Amino acid sequence: MSNKYDILILGAGLGGLECALILSKKGYKVGILEKNKNIGGTLQDFQFGDCTFSSGMHYLGSLDEGQVLNKLFRYFNILDDLRIKRMDEAVFDRFSIGGKTIDYPMGWERFRDKMLSYFPGEQNAINNYISLIHEVTESQAIYNLREPGEYDIRTNPFLKTGIFPAIQSITKNRDLQNALCALNFVYAGDKNTSSLYTHALINNYYIQSAYRLIDGSSQIAGLLAQNIRDKGGEIHAGLEVDRFIFDGDRLAGIQTTSKQRFLADRIISNIHPSRTMDMIPEGKIRKSFRNRIKNIRNSISVFGLHLRLKTGTFPYLPYNYYHFRENDVWTVSSYQKNSWPGFYFLYTPADSSAEAHSNCLSLYAYMQYDEVKRWAGLPVNHRGNEYETWKKEKANKLIATASSRFPQIKDNVIDWIAATPLTYRDYIGTPDGAMYGTVRDYNDPMASYVFPRTKIPNLFFTGQNIHLHGMLGVSISSLLTCGEIVGLQEIIRDIHEA
Ligand SMILES: Cc1cc2nc3c(=O)[nH]c(=O)nc-3n(C[C@H](O)[C@H](O)[C@H](O)COP(=O)(O)OP(=O)(O)OC[C@H]3O[C@@H](n4cnc5c(N)ncnc54)[C@H](O)[C@@H]3O)c2cc1C
Repeated sequence: MSNKYDILILGAGLGGLECALILSKKGYKVGILEKNKNIGGTLQDFQFGDCTFSSGMHYLGSLDEGQVLNKLFRYFNILDDLRIKRMDEAVFDRFSIGGKTIDYPMGWERFRDKMLSYFPGEQNAINNYISLIHEVTESQAIYNLREPGEYDIRTNPFLKTGIFPAIQSITKNRDLQNALCALNFVYAGDKNTSSLYTHALINNYYIQSAYRLIDGSSQIAGLLAQNIRDKGGEIHAGLEVDRFIFDGDRLAGIQTTSKQRFLADRIISNIHPSRTMDMIPEGKIRKSFRNRIKNIRNSISVFGLHLRLKTGTFPYLPYNYYHFRENDVWTVSSYQKNSWPGFYFLYTPADSSAEAHSNCLSLYAYMQYDEVKRWAGLPVNHRGNEYETWKKEKANKLIATASSRFPQIKDNVIDWIAATPLTYRDYIGTPDGAMYGTVRDYNDPMASYVFPRTKIPNLFFTGQNIHLHGMLGVSISSLLTCGEIVGLQEIIRDIHEA
């Protein structure tokens, strides 16, 4: 183990691990520091009885041969060892919107036919919507693993277009608007801020093909780590970065909370940008830059409830289920504490030991950080009876709500465990337990955009706060960050040659 690197990466989430692999493949001496004893950030799984639950990676898209994630995983050398299960082609995502069921099938032609079967008189609107999505996805060279051309990320017009106004201009049919925007939990869709760009990239990513990870998502972190080590990279887990060290005006390294020092020529932070700013001493970075980064809003948080069920009482569902109580899919914008949960997401993990049935079930509902703020200063596992009672109330409400659609849940729960916004805050280090990091607001995209380069020449950002969140978004961010060091064209060439 060393304490001097060419490149030091702070945080072993997906973004940190991918950057470490790209750069160690290029011959750099790379070290990673991770505060938790397990690597992976939201790729980590946890064991609850005989259930393995993922903390933040339920399904992947675009993994069929020739599709973008397939190419990226081949380049990262993890494709062949990955244990995945294709979801149902006819319905990989099911939505209940104010009582009406809408299914999303895989593939754009099937999607077109399905929407036409629900809305036979809306052929033009459906065709226009699909053409628009294709135009947006084509507009971003990097997303298609092409060298950036005319449409640089900074000038992409679709970042400045809201998905809500865009869909309103395509159709006045409220039910069709809802159907086309139903998959918005995966980007915490907010009708006042979410861009057409985010909507299009994410919908296209899943509609192309959708897969679950068998026995959880930490296998991705494990495979990336193995490849990093094979290339000479070093991973130090259980070391929390506390502050940056400067040699005059030059960033020289970091110090951990245990007072260990690590030096490097360049540093990449996979830690939330606002937290990264807190580690830089006064006077070492432009105040205006620090303020801009610190003032970017974060996405909403979530309450996650993981259930162990009696054996054989619940089927394995080859699709995800999203329930909107009202005939309105924009539930982040209409969030109401007193009638929570107006929306929930339900899925059964893919377990190698169970085929037809699932003993394990996860439920998620949006939750604002405000609801847990009063316990924010108390230590993990010692937040007191009031917090435990509150969690139990929320768990019971969520179970009761989901049981009105899936009655077999209620009487068959053996045990449950919940993650609150405080869990996410403490466990991955995102302010306010934000689900997907910073909000990219279409009203002022550049003010809320985090670029890989910072105002410190040898400090870079990576991860979900650059470009986009999620498996694909973070992977593209890793290319953009490492591109600043070795050249994006070279990385893209390597991907195509892999
Ligand atoms: C509930 C939920 C469900 C999701 N479902 C999906 C899904 O189905 N599909 C999908 O594609 N995406 C999904 N996502 C999004 C996806 O998980 C994330 O976008 C992605 O994993 C983020 O990776 P990252 O590297 O940017 O950050 P993180 O995973 O947050 O990694 C940051 C790392 O930095 C470490 N760190 C923080 N502070 C310090 C410090 N001071 N010192 C050292 N280390 C530090 C953290 O411990 C962590 O390991 C989901 C997210 C959530 C929350």
